[in-house]
Amino acid sequence: MAFGVTSISIPPAVTGARLSRWVGRMAWLPLLPILIIAAVVYAKDGGGSSGLPKQFAPLALSAMAAERIVTQGAPERRAVTWNATAQVRPRNIVMMIDESVRADFVDLSPGNSYTPNIAALADRFVDFGPAVSGGDCSVYSNAILRLTASRRDLAHSVNTNPTIWQYAKKAGYRTVYIDAQSTAKAVVLLGSTNFMTVREKRDIDKAYFIDDVQMDRADFRLIDILRGELAGSRPVFIYANKNGAHFPYDWSYPASEAVYGPTVTSAGKDTVATRLASYRNAVRWSVDHFMKKLFESADLSNTAMIYTSDHGQAMKVGKSTHCTIYDPDPRVGLVPLMAYTADPTLRARFAIGAAANRGKASHFQIVPTVLELMGYSPADIASEYDESLFAATSRPPQFTSGDIFGLFSDSVHWNSIDLSLHYLEPDAQRLQPNMASAKADGP
Ligand SMILES: [Zn+2]
Repeated sequence: MAFGVTSISIPPAVTGARLSRWVGRMAWLPLLPILIIAAVVYAKDGGGSSGLPKQFAPLALSAMAAERIVTQGAPERRAVTWNATAQVRPRNIVMMIDESVRADFVDLSPGNSYTPNIAALADRFVDFGPAVSGGDCSVYSNAILRLTASRRDLAHSVNTNPTIWQYAKKAGYRTVYIDAQSTAKAVVLLGSTNFMTVREKRDIDKAYFIDDVQMDRADFRLIDILRGELAGSRPVFIYANKNGAHFPYDWSYPASEAVYGPTVTSAGKDTVATRLASYRNAVRWSVDHFMKKLFESADLSNTAMIYTSDHGQAMKVGKSTHCTIYDPDPRVGLVPLMAYTADPTLRARFAIGAAANRGKASHFQIVPTVLELMGYSPADIASEYDESLFAATSRPPQFTSGDIFGLFSDSVHWNSIDLSLHYLEPDAQRLQPNMASAKADGP
């Protein structure tokens, strides 16, 4: 088994006693749990690890994938043959990928009590959501985006297409990766996250990992890094993985920000109602406060940004929250998808695209959009991809579950989702904030 190129995401700082114990165990006995989980993953075609501790799941998945790549030989990845010729393009491009954020928990309607800050920013965004994710696991959704997979031939394209970094560099952008889910120490020890290989990393000019803050502050540290990079002297392409709202949700926000309750932690029990309260708190902190802080502190005037989440979330106690392979709950594919630009012409194009893609916008439309933003010609892009976010997709909304690399089986599992349906749980609609503990401003 090739552990040298495996990945792990240990939270930046460990405060919970349970998590401490897991990490402590892992430091002393790293191989045994990884082997057990790898066996579970193998038995379930690459998606069986989601119910297991967060830090082991990507490790086991990558261990399995790395083992397969080593024994079968990694396919050759193409060089970029296209040229970025467009004269007018954003100086900076940001792909902001959230973690476990479900579309219907991010409310853009004015005055709503759940996510009022992002609602106040609604006129800055063009909203494509609710949208469908590429996969229902972090590793697969991020691989689809970073490895520029095409919906036309997923398994082949994800293995052989140039990476998003290769396209960005050829187009003249400095390439920056910000990973708010991993510490540098863990990455040095075990590789990196989300199937990122040594070869992929060669095309990243600067990779940031977040070691110096608590887990519930990692996304705000990400903003500091982003602000610095956007203010640099060269045009920059940034791919950022947020810490977001991964299960267990109470680790994603400070205890003082528990305005919905009782939470899983405060009640001391894991029920659908307590999970929903905890999840509302996590989204309020890591999406709603995050966006307020981002727009307050970073100069985004020369930047185009695509914001989405890697996958959605299911709220059934005793079942996986995401990353299931067979018959997944549609909520695991239900993600927000928004575009931001200060350029009125580009914004108008996004608005036309959003109207045309209502109820069917997909992660698979993001890469062709970003390639066009980088300056590649629509004709070249159309030779490899279906419609970008600028035109109506002809595909029904579907997300994959399980392996997409052809490592575990020859066929990809596709799951349909009806984006016009109402998926919000009744308990989530009944939650009222405890205003006594709600602070007026963020971090
Ligand atoms: Zn994820």
